[in-house]
Amino acid sequence: MENSKELRTWLDDLGLDHPLVIAGPCSAETEEQVLKIAHQLKDTDVNYFRAGIWKPRTRPGNFEGVGALGLNWLKKVKEETGMKTATEVANANHVELALEADVDLLWIGARSTVSPFIVQEIADALQGTDKVVLVKNPVNPDLSLWLGGIERLYKSDIKRLGVIHRGFSTYEKTKYRNIPEWQLAIELQNKFPDLPLICDPSHISGKRDLIFDVSQTALDLNYDGLMIETHFDPDNAWSDAAQQVTPESLVQIMKDLKIRKETD
Ligand code: PEP
Ligand code: MN
Repeated sequence: MENSKELRTWLDDLGLDHPLVIAGPCSAETEEQVLKIAHQLKDTDVNYFRAGIWKPRTRPGNFEGVGALGLNWLKKVKEETGMKTATEVANANHVELALEADVDLLWIGARSTVSPFIVQEIADALQGTDKVVLVKNPVNPDLSLWLGGIERLYKSDIKRLGVIHRGFSTYEKTKYRNIPEWQLAIELQNKFPDLPLICDPSHISGKRDLIFDVSQTALDLNYDGLMIETHFDPDNAWSDAAQQVTPESLVQIMKDLKIRKETD
């Protein structure tokens, strides 16, 4: 895979004067919840509305997503707010359904990036798509697996690509839910400077009061964007309650962040 400006045309074409923002709930819960959050985010800096409809839970017994039904809600988001939409796909069937429903951006989750079989299946199902596809880092700090994900997509003729840095699992307890290991993302950035690099401070932090600092560090390191989980009632969210922020807090975070310009 060559480093090529082509990889970031989807981002450059947005012509943003601020970092890319992907926001919305961890999980789509109900149609009302999805639409309410979308309307709250509509006139903000948010570029893509995210909502997970197939939720990869580490252990069974938790909410595993509403499934394909949620695709109709994302369609309504687009119709009612004009925002582009984003969701996680974890197998060929998800890809097929998401493409059919015209979701604008698909991402591969951290638990999928660890599996070359799954990534290849997704890459095959996406073959030649002009949708934006982002690859989250694998749960373990393995740069090759992360790069392998991107390379598999690139070989499937998918050229609107990017990566999401969401931190890494550790046995030790730290203040983070997933430790950032910034040097790993920087290594990737050095290798492919034109590959859009997006930080997911929500899954790195695990709690909302760390999100600002993690986001600022990412912007200081010249990241291209942020993915921040947002819910009108974070404490009662059906997944990742401790780390979601309200739409009002998101707007405040974006206002307070010092945005580094290329020329700095
Ligand atoms: C998510 O974005 O809600 C998610 C499940 O993320 P990750 O794959 O980073 O754990
Ligand atoms: Mn989540």
